[in-house]
Formats: sequence, structure tokens, C-alpha cells
Amino acid sequence: MEALIPVINKLQDVFNTVGADIIHLPQIAVVGTQSSGKSSVLESLVGRDLLPRGTGIVTRRPLILQLVNVDPGDARKNDDSGKHQNLSNLSDEWGKFLHTKNQIFTDFEEIRQEIENETARISGNNKGISDDPIHLKIFSPHVVNLTLVDLPGITKVPVGDQPNDIEVQIKDLILKHISNPNCIILAVTAANTDMATSEALKVAREVDPDGRRTLAVVTKLDLMDAGTDAMDVLMGRVIPVKLGLIGVVNRSQLDINNKKSVADAIRDEHAFLQKKYPSLANRNGTKYLARTLNRLLMHHIRDCLPELKTRINVLAAQYQSLLSSYGEPVEDQSATLLQLITKFATEYCNTIEGTAKYIETAELCGGARICYIFHETFGRTLESVDPLGGLSTIDILTAIRNATGPRPSLFVPEISFELLVKKQVKRLEEPSLRCVELVHEEMQRIIQHCSNYSTQELQRFPKLHEAIVEVVTCLLRKRLPITNEMVHNLVAIELAYINTKHPDFADACGVMNNNIEVCTRNKILSHTYIFLITVLFSEKHPPFPLKPVPVARKLSSREQRDCEVIERLIKSYFLIVRKNIQDSVPKAVMHFLVNHVKDSLQSELVGQLYKSGLLNDLLTESEDMAQRRKEAADMLQALQKASQVIAEIRETHMW
Ligand code: GDP
Ligand code: MG
Repeated sequence: MEALIPVINKLQDVFNTVGADIIHLPQIAVVGTQSSGKSSVLESLVGRDLLPRGTGIVTRRPLILQLVNVDPGDARKNDDSGKHQNLSNLSDEWGKFLHTKNQIFTDFEEIRQEIENETARISGNNKGISDDPIHLKIFSPHVVNLTLVDLPGITKVPVGDQPNDIEVQIKDLILKHISNPNCIILAVTAANTDMATSEALKVAREVDPDGRRTLAVVTKLDLMDAGTDAMDVLMGRVIPVKLGLIGVVNRSQLDINNKKSVADAIRDEHAFLQKKYPSLANRNGTKYLARTLNRLLMHHIRDCLPELKTRINVLAAQYQSLLSSYGEPVEDQSATLLQLITKFATEYCNTIEGTAKYIETAELCGGARICYIFHETFGRTLESVDPLGGLSTIDILTAIRNATGPRPSLFVPEISFELLVKKQVKRLEEPSLRCVELVHEEMQRIIQHCSNYSTQELQRFPKLHEAIVEVVTCLLRKRLPITNEMVHNLVAIELAYINTKHPDFADACGVMNNNIEVCTRNKILSHTYIFLITVLFSEKHPPFPLKPVPVARKLSSREQRDCEVIERLIKSYFLIVRKNIQDSVPKAVMHFLVNHVKDSLQSELVGQLYKSGLLNDLLTESEDMAQRRKEAADMLQALQKASQVIAEIRETHMW
């Protein structure tokens, strides 16, 4: 078992690094009523006078006392921080408080004084209590490795500064320490009180009903009434305690006053047991208690190991992924910059192509959204444009008349058709430019998408991120007028030449000429009246208009027919052009905006950002990143060490 001590020490230190609240250490806590001898028991386990003891409430803050076994020869060497101290006063036993940092106490009288001062500092001078623990480490070749917790005693009646609910408060404080399933409970009961009603065992049972981690200690064997003994109690016949009952004799108040040494006390205890309980002497006493505790602790650690190991592994995995999300510290700046730029550019293009690693499920994005804009948004808008929208019969007639000039004409003048159809085609420009704008917006949105999901490393370098966004935004902005110009031209091209020889148009004209006579005859009456009503009542055409068309005159059948001819021609030609635009605008947007940006993004980014003068600035990490990375790395290292230590302990088949 001795071989395990250094490993346990290591484990302990590792746990300290990892943080006690992350891993609960097996430790030993004393519980019992006030003055039952809890502090005395702990003290004799330590083998040195160091704890304040006495009548009334003495222990008023939890004391976490860690005993560390050190080799007698190179005692101080084991404790690195000791190097900073004055080594002239070499001693093989010393203590250190957490609250006094590296200060070394070799005088145990001073340690006790420091506990008293520190108790008073937080809990005041008048019997008040506090749940804020004092941490003390004792280094000695004469101790086994134990962590002990001294707690205030159970009390019922408030005295001094104590609040009315002192009983509840102390009980809560005790429960807080002993409810940890990794805690071994030392339930202390004085032999001169009734064991059957022991408060210590009662409170222990609350958190350990099966008695798997409770050990009963019976103190003050020397103070029993004449004619009585603790035989029944120690044999477990009064209250059975699974892990056992161990009787001890501590120093009395008189012994304390007379400064009786621990060594003397232990010798006397041994003599007392030999004399009074010869058959039980080798299973009682302070030394036996220490050995029992050490064994229990070892078993306890062994039982906790698998779970500890799992917890450490889970934590290690968490820190590992945290660490990798922070990325490696930058060593080769230009390589890193180039890599990040390339990654961003690739991700940007992938989002357009639909090959991105992170596929968005909440909404359309990237290339899919561009497709939607082309075929749904833009396509539908174009389809909803009425070929004759904004053209009234009167507009058409006026145009025909204007085109004829002073001569009456035999045929519908072609020039009026051209004029009117151009007017209609022009209406396709606005939705086309709107389409460019929507795609441009989407391209802008992809930048955000890439920053959010795909290139998390970029978050590390806010300046580079900003610069990349700036470059891409500029590139997009630069392409916008060029694309707009092209789309404008697509419409201008249509306007430039009305191709009445277009095969689809020629067909439409042929069909129309055959039908026109029939149509005119059938519809002539109704059409005329509608026209008249329009002229008379519409606000646009008041009763005495300046328009050349006389008011309240029936349209001649000629006018009627001309109008219909023109309308049909416009409609037929407009549909041809609309189809062209619907087809060519997306192509133009792809070529001049989307593909161009996609193809030149990488070189644009490299050209503008990959400059030696910019490297330092662009790769400045966000302020807390370096710090966070270091913390995560340290934690990970501590966890790996812990894991290794646990593996070592499990391999040592010494249980
Ligand atoms: P705590 O309040 O439970 O921590 O009890 P202390 O350890 O402070 O002890 C209270 C008083 O009981 C002190 O005066 C001790 O000297 C005395 N005492 C403790 N254990 C024994 C014992 O086994 N025998 C005798 N005679 N006195 C003891
Ligand atoms: Mg005490």
C-alpha cells in the first residue's frame, strides 16, 4: 500500500490543478456534537498539536486539512515553493495555508494561532460561524496521505453572535461537506454519552443510509463512569456500523493545559487500551484508526476511478474541441493568411455552386436562391407584365393618326406599330434591373453566410474578417454598374431594331390577317360603345378634349379594325421580346456578376490583402483569444496528466 502513496499525491496535485469542483476528491470529514472530541481525533491523526481545541464552540469554520507524506531525507525538496523560503531553518514537517500563499509554518503553535486568527477574521470573535473553509496543507514524513475536514459541531442553542437558526445552519454546512459521495464520514461520539442517540450517526445516515462510507469513532473512553465500559459499543452491539467502531483516548483539557505531547498521549492511549480492553486493543486506538482510514480511502479511490476516468475523458474531449476551434497559434503568417483567404473564397464559390459543407436548411441561400430569383421572382414578374398595359384604344388611334400625317392612308401605318411596341418593350427594363439588384443582394448575403458557418477560424482574426468583407463588397459593387449596363443594353438592343421578319412574328401576322375580318364584324358594335363610354366618362378624357379624336363620335369600322390590328401586332411582338429578355437577363447576370465574382474573388483577395506590410495587422487575434487558448491548453494538459495517473493507479494491482 505504501507504494501507492506517491501516486495518490500526484493524483491529488493533478486534481488541484483541474479544480476541486470538477473532480470530487475522496476526503474524510468529522461530524459530531460540540466538544465530542472531533478536533482532538483529527489532531491525533496528524500526530501534531495544531488544531484549536477546547470546551464550548471552538471550530467555527470548516478546516480542510491535507496531509502530505514526504520523505524524511529530502523533505523540503518535494515542495517546490519551499525554494523561495529561508532554508536555513530546515525542518521535516511544515504547514502551508492557501490564504497565506507560500508562507511556510514550521512552528505548529503558529499554525494553530493562524487558524484562530483566520477564523476570527471571517467569523468574528463572538462564537459566529462561517461556511467559508480554511485550507491547510501539512507536509510530514509521519503522516499518511489523507485529506481531513474539521467541521463545527452540531449544536442546538444559539450563543453569542450565533443566529436563531444556528442548528439548521450548522447542519446545512455539515451536509454540504459530507453529502459528496466521495467523502468518508467519521462520526464522532463521546463514550460518556448515549451511543444509541448519537447525533453524529444520525446526520451521517442522512447522506449515507447504507453506511458504506461512515466510520464510527468513540472518544473519551477514559471518561466513562466507574463501573461502566464501552465493550458493548465497541463490539457493535449497541449500534452496528458497517465499516466498524473504533475507540480512542485523546488528551483531556488538563493534558492540553499541561502541554502533553501527542507521542505521550498515544503511548498512554495504548497502555489504557491494553489494560482496559486487552482483547480489543489491536483493533482500537488512534494508530489503528489512521490505518483503517488510509485503507478506506484507497478503496474509495479505487471505486471512484472508473467514473473519474470517464469524467476526465469527457472533459478532455470537450477541451480538445474547444482548443481546436481556437486554432493553432500563428507561426507562418503568410501561409495562414493565404490559407484563410483561399478557404473563404472556396467556401464562397461552394455556396454558389451548392457544394458547401454546411447546407442551410432554414431557407434558400447562395446559388439556389439565385436560381429562385431568376425563375420565380424575375420570371413571374415578367409574365405578369401585360403586353398592352398602359395603352388605351385612344392612345393607339392617336398614334395611328399622328403617323399618317396629313394624308389619309390606305393601310395601318407601320411606324405607329413600331412606336407603340417600343413603348411597351421599354417596360421590361425596370424588372430586369431589379433582378440584377436582387442577385447582388444575395451575393452580399453569401459573405455573411460564409463568415457565420464555414470559416470559423476567421472569427479569430476580426481585422482580416473585416478586410475580406470589404474586398468582396467592393468587388460586388464594382460589378454592379457593369451588369446593369449590360441588362440595360439587352433592352436597348430590342428597341434598336423591331424585327418584323422574326419567324414567330411573321406566323402571328399570317394567322391574324385571316381572322381579322370575322373578328371585326362580330365585335364592332360593342367595341364602339365601350370606346364612347370611355371617352365620355373617363377623367383622362374630359368631354372636350384637346385630343384630335372628336367626342361622342362612333368609331368608324376602319378605325376599329386598325386599332385591333395594331393591338394584336403589339401583343405578338411583345411576347417574342419578353421571352428573349427572360432568357438573356439571367445569362447576363451570371456572366457579368456571379461568374465574374466567383472567378476573380481569390485573385482579388490575394491581390489586395496578401501584402507583407499588412500581415501583422490582419492577423491580430481578438484580444482574449490567446489567453483562452492558453487556458484551454493548460486544462487539457492537466486532464491528460490526470488520465495518465489514473491509468497508473489502476495498473498497480495493490488493492
Ligand atoms: P470538538 O468540539 O468536537 O472539536 O472537541 P474538541 O476536540 O475541541 O474537544 C473538546 C474537549 O474534550 C477538549 O477539552 C478535549 O481535551 C476534550 N477531549 C476530547 N477527547 C477526549 C478524550 O478522549 N478524553 C478526554 N479526557 N478528554 C477529551
Ligand atoms: Mg472542534
